[in-house]
Amino acid sequence: LPQQGSDDPTSSIIRKTLMGYVGFASLPNQVRTKSVRKGFQFTAMVVGESGLGKSTLINTLFNTQLYPPKEQLPPSAERPQTVAIESISADIEENGVRLKLTVVDTPGFGDFVNNDGSWKPIVENIESRFDSYLEQENRVNRQKIIDNRVHACLYFIQPTGHSLKQIDIEFMRQLHTRVNLIPVIAKADTLTDDEVVEFKARILADIAHHQIQIFQAPTYENEDEESLAEAEEIASKIPFAVVGSNQLVKIPDGRDVRGRAYPWGVVEVDNEDHCDFVKLRQMLVRTYMEELREYTNDVLYENWRTDKLLSMGVVQDQSVFKEINPASRMQEERVMHEAKLAKMEAEMKMVFQQKVQEKEAKLKQSEEELYARHREMKDALEKQRLDLEDKKRRIESGRPLTPDRPNQTKKKGGFLRS
Ligand code: GDP
Repeated sequence: LPQQGSDDPTSSIIRKTLMGYVGFASLPNQVRTKSVRKGFQFTAMVVGESGLGKSTLINTLFNTQLYPPKEQLPPSAERPQTVAIESISADIEENGVRLKLTVVDTPGFGDFVNNDGSWKPIVENIESRFDSYLEQENRVNRQKIIDNRVHACLYFIQPTGHSLKQIDIEFMRQLHTRVNLIPVIAKADTLTDDEVVEFKARILADIAHHQIQIFQAPTYENEDEESLAEAEEIASKIPFAVVGSNQLVKIPDGRDVRGRAYPWGVVEVDNEDHCDFVKLRQMLVRTYMEELREYTNDVLYENWRTDKLLSMGVVQDQSVFKEINPASRMQEERVMHEAKLAKMEAEMKMVFQQKVQEKEAKLKQSEEELYARHREMKDALEKQRLDLEDKKRRIESGRPLTPDRPNQTKKKGGFLRS
């Protein structure tokens, strides 16, 4: 049986083989092959009053019995006196892609008569994870950094159908600068469709009124229409009205589906007409897992680090800021890279021109040599022709054939002389 442990990720690792398709195997489309080989680390936190279906939803999301059924937990684990932080890890694999999933649970949140400050241990836990990451970054050997930072926080809203409660607003206000908040309406099958629509509108109005930042599906420039439509579709469902269940139930067409059976029918978990579970999974696991990790690293963690340095009295000058601000650092690196490319191109052009000039000079030289040889041969031939003509004339006129060779003609008796 998987075990629930303290907040020491190593104490509670369970290894599981998935029972069915989850979707994170599509992550190779999101990130580089290196991450695929090494596997992903992803940490999700669940917050909400007990009984709202947190464990059931996590089990449903990852299609695995990550959380043991409640009755199998020791009684002491069921009723903590303060908000506790517990984590469960599982190595799950899908189509050769490994995911080290850690789920951080916060039992006790919202369960007391007085819930003031329930958010405090949670913020402390999130920040202590940032601290541990910073400490690893500052080490000389930064090869094996373990990323235990919380990449997403599923906040479970009670399906009251009214509006957000004080504890919900307080929690989100305190946490939104530290973690990617994903609000979900728990047990949405207890509300009618119209109630869900109205409840969502009120929740969003409250969130906007209190200037709470929840995770938005990012859209990029030059994105294709399909991805834009998908991002819009996901965004339109927030806060996701979810239903969780790992039970298979038979529906009238004979199929066995994950769902909750009621006397009036079955609520199907994976049916988009019944609830937003599919869209939540798409956002969390299939499409935006990498974005959630990136936003945590580039924005939430960086802001926390800046705040921390400022609170320690360290005033960052612009150059330091550039160094730790990934956006400006990337921009700077890009400019430097482009300058390097331009320099290399100019150098290559120069070498090319030099080579062409050398070749041209060589060709010219051999051309001149050819001309000179040609002229020499022509001259020699011309001289030969003149000589022959001269000889011809002498023969015709009866004069000695070779006046330039008098010895030879004399020997022959000089009969050719006139
Ligand atoms: P947790 O305390 O938040 O982890 O809640 P659990 O996952 O243990 O669920 C508490 C009870 O609610 C269990 O009896 C579940 O079967 C039930 N439950 C879980 N999810 C849903 C849901 O989406 N709809 C309904 N109606 N009940 C649910």
